[in-house]
Amino acid sequence: MAKRDYYEVLGIDKGATTQEVKKAYRKLALKYHPDKNPDDKEAEDKFKEAAEAYEVLSNEEKKAKYDRFGHAGMGGGGFGGGGGMNMDDIFSQFGDIFGGGGGGGFSGFGGFGGGGRGGRRVNRGSNIRVKVKMTLADVVNGVEKKIKVKKFVSCKPCSGSGAEGGSGGFTTCDTCKGAGQVNRVTNTFLGQMQTASTCPSCDGDGKIITNKCNSCHGDGIVKDDDTIELKIPAGVEDGMQLSVSGKGNMGARNGVAGDLIVAIEEEEHEVLKRDGNNILYDLYIPFPDAILGTDVTVPTVNGKAKIKIEPGTQGGKVLRLRNKGIPEVNGYRTGDQMVNVNVWTPQTLSKEEKKMVEKMKDSENFIPNPTDQDKGFFERMKDYFR
Ligand SMILES: [Zn+2]
Ligand SMILES: [Zn+2]
Repeated sequence: MAKRDYYEVLGIDKGATTQEVKKAYRKLALKYHPDKNPDDKEAEDKFKEAAEAYEVLSNEEKKAKYDRFGHAGMGGGGFGGGGGMNMDDIFSQFGDIFGGGGGGGFSGFGGFGGGGRGGRRVNRGSNIRVKVKMTLADVVNGVEKKIKVKKFVSCKPCSGSGAEGGSGGFTTCDTCKGAGQVNRVTNTFLGQMQTASTCPSCDGDGKIITNKCNSCHGDGIVKDDDTIELKIPAGVEDGMQLSVSGKGNMGARNGVAGDLIVAIEEEEHEVLKRDGNNILYDLYIPFPDAILGTDVTVPTVNGKAKIKIEPGTQGGKVLRLRNKGIPEVNGYRTGDQMVNVNVWTPQTLSKEEKKMVEKMKDSENFIPNPTDQDKGFFERMKDYFR
């Protein structure tokens, strides 16, 4: 298959800055990440393709060669000999792309990679992704949820080692002499390059099990049910991802566990609508109430609130219930509930009602007088966005 142009792959121009290259790649890496696209060969290819493009375009020397000679200048190798980059190489790039994984709970992806370069590989278990449904009340109040997952856990009989009876049954790997990786020197257009790759004989462990555990067949992990308690803070939003470090699948043979990635899914409320940190409610009042004024009760997320409708209230007036909205997820501010007052226009009338309304029609005070009006639409909007 002919290789695509690296700039095309990342969707950037030739004059793109290093920052733009990084940004474009970060976007693609997140989109096609194997954790997000399990068993999707196409996504994996795209993921690798983007990584390769980034590897070249983020390096001044390689980029200059590529700009002059195109793919021919890359010598068809360089990274892992001919076949593009392997996953370990890609993950080891992530350090500088994602800045070592953010400390907050919402970094989306926790620690990537786990091992790779230099020395024996530590098997990192894959991440588990779950969706959690949240009602509007859950979002306002925060919620604790217990979720059941089926995941790989450490095998008990062999204490996760994969060897029958525990740690005894191992011998050092002959191929890599225990290093867990093998080095290969390739001649490329760019000169001689040494690439290290995971030892194929021991799968990076540096040792070989002589007597495999019967329960896990040498993997050191088995599938089991687990119940995970999640504390989801108030203020989260649909599509947000919360990552719980170390609650994903356990890695093979005493590896480290991946993360549990929780995707928030908001359920719609029957009558209340979310608008950022505010909540919107559409109130309809009868025409006479708008004229004479009244007290009405409106629903809020956690109960009810009483509001006063002043005599002479226009339809379209927005009333604010302070702090009845949604708390900011990492802040101190809480949103408001906005009550949009509509004056109900009857859709059907009896003969008698029709007569009543016709009488009003000619009555002096029922005719709008622009100079005498309440705050108009634009004024109200200013109020609303204040
Ligand atoms: Zn080996
Ligand atoms: Zn076992």
